[in-house]
Amino acid sequence: MKIARLALPEGVFYASVKQDGYHLILGDIFGEWGELSEPYEGEYRLLAPVAPSKVVCLGANYKKHAEELHLAVLPEPTVFLKPSTSVIASGEDILYPAQATKVDYEAELAVVIGKTAKHLSEQDALSVVLGYTAANDVTERDMQKRDGQWTRAKGFDTFCPLGAFLETDLNPEKAEIVGKKNGVVVQKGNTRDLINSVKRSVAFISDIMTLEQGDVILTGTPEGIGPLLPGDTFEVEINGVTFLKNTVKREEK
Ligand code: MG
Repeated sequence: MKIARLALPEGVFYASVKQDGYHLILGDIFGEWGELSEPYEGEYRLLAPVAPSKVVCLGANYKKHAEELHLAVLPEPTVFLKPSTSVIASGEDILYPAQATKVDYEAELAVVIGKTAKHLSEQDALSVVLGYTAANDVTERDMQKRDGQWTRAKGFDTFCPLGAFLETDLNPEKAEIVGKKNGVVVQKGNTRDLINSVKRSVAFISDIMTLEQGDVILTGTPEGIGPLLPGDTFEVEINGVTFLKNTVKREEK
């Protein structure tokens, strides 16, 4: 099932995405809900599929990507945070900050949490997942190298585009991730090559912090990262389906 989040004149609604359009969901997407039988025909604006309390990310989680950035592969997962204010929807613009010198794309599989969770075992980790989507872990690479930690480099407004919908039927252990810059494939990876699997990553993070409904985990990017400039578009496909597309625009202050 595919689930999108829409801003309607009447408020924000979840909807199931079907061939004939969006079917509005009534109730609580994290609990009991039902969907309308007829597709919605009014005005709407597509939102990011969730409004997370936090976005937790895995760094250097594919061997070839760690090599291309000369990052050490550590025995434990490397985790960092992106602020909730960095989240944007598919179709919204990635703003190229005035002070930026090198802004890179990173196509990733994103996990969306459906149940409050702490201290999960690897075995139970996927049972708290509501669905999966695509993400672009946009990064100011020069600042990432200069700062020694990644909050500024990864934390600018618009630096966390999330897919147009959640997919609930997806095997996160073998999902193909493709990144396309201006329509050309520049990244191609598969989550089977993750150093820390999705299960292990979710369990590891839940041992540190409580995962809340709607929180997002970015699982890391495969090799092939590169720069974006104003005017570029970047798309992320998972298993051959386009989840995410954004254009880069220069920030105006
Ligand atoms: Mg990343």
